[in-house]
Amino acid sequence: MEVTKTVQGGVVQLTNQKRRELNTEYQNLQKYLQGDEDAEVYSANKQQAERFYDTIKEDREYPISVRKDLIDIQECESDVADYFVKIPTAQRYGGLKLPVKTHTEIEDDWEIGESKVIKRDGRFYIHISVSYEVEPVSDLQGVYGIDLGLRNPVVGVALVGGEGSCPKVQTVDFHADRIQKIQSRYAYLRRNTSTGKKWRDSEYNKVEDILHNVTTEIADYCEENKLAVAVGDLEGIQNQDQGRVMNRKLHRFPHYKFKQLLRYKLKERGLPLIEVDEAYTSQTCSKCGEKGERYRGRFRCSGTEMDADYNGAVNIGQRALSKVEINSLDSAGATVT
Ligand SMILES: [Zn+2]
Repeated sequence: MEVTKTVQGGVVQLTNQKRRELNTEYQNLQKYLQGDEDAEVYSANKQQAERFYDTIKEDREYPISVRKDLIDIQECESDVADYFVKIPTAQRYGGLKLPVKTHTEIEDDWEIGESKVIKRDGRFYIHISVSYEVEPVSDLQGVYGIDLGLRNPVVGVALVGGEGSCPKVQTVDFHADRIQKIQSRYAYLRRNTSTGKKWRDSEYNKVEDILHNVTTEIADYCEENKLAVAVGDLEGIQNQDQGRVMNRKLHRFPHYKFKQLLRYKLKERGLPLIEVDEAYTSQTCSKCGEKGERYRGRFRCSGTEMDADYNGAVNIGQRALSKVEINSLDSAGATVT
């Protein structure tokens, strides 16, 4: 599986000379884009800009887009920076070497893609796009089934062991209900203050943070335990009529974003995200297979009663077990004898 991502770094500790040169390339690119044909910009940087920036707005500045074969990255053995990133400029023959600090390490075997030099509030940043191969995990031990639930937005159950064997079932909760708490608090603030927009932005950032945390925690857990992840496809859940209030809550939880982040983080770790048809997962008993009823967050069949979201998560996990190859220790032992 190929993973691509953007490594973001800050250009640090520039000498005055280098700062001037970088600034000149940047400012001249802006002039060129605004119609000054004679502005002195490295030719490939001009071509990149022409390729990527279709419409040029007068009140906007555009990053220097650097072609992937013209960027050169070297590790830097100093406290000041992590890498030296060389980019071509019209001012300096052979390119300008920028000291860059990043949060993420750039491995030697990663492929470097198109990159951008950005100026924000007087500082320069570089966004380097990279891609690399991830080996799929070959000895999966089970499935982590997720019900995008009604009361608790993300209910997860780990099923360890393959299809046919009897999987061990365990609820593993990553507290995504933190998101709903924030959403209701901000809904209150928005209603009761005049600065609605400000609250909305602040809510968005907080929700985004938690989504990142929750999906990272799930991905780490599944990496450690070698579990594939199963979620229901969203179509089903959004169309079920669960009453107006519930529907509103359901639609507000960013399920799409959640899935998108989770899929990416699993891919980075070589784990699959399996989407299963969610039909009847909420009405079927995960223990006996009988049809039952949900009522106020509980599921009931003729023989038992349990949390409805838990029941849904187990059903989703079980449906996925038949779709992936699980090399559980049980079944491995069985084939040897
Ligand atoms: Zn039952």
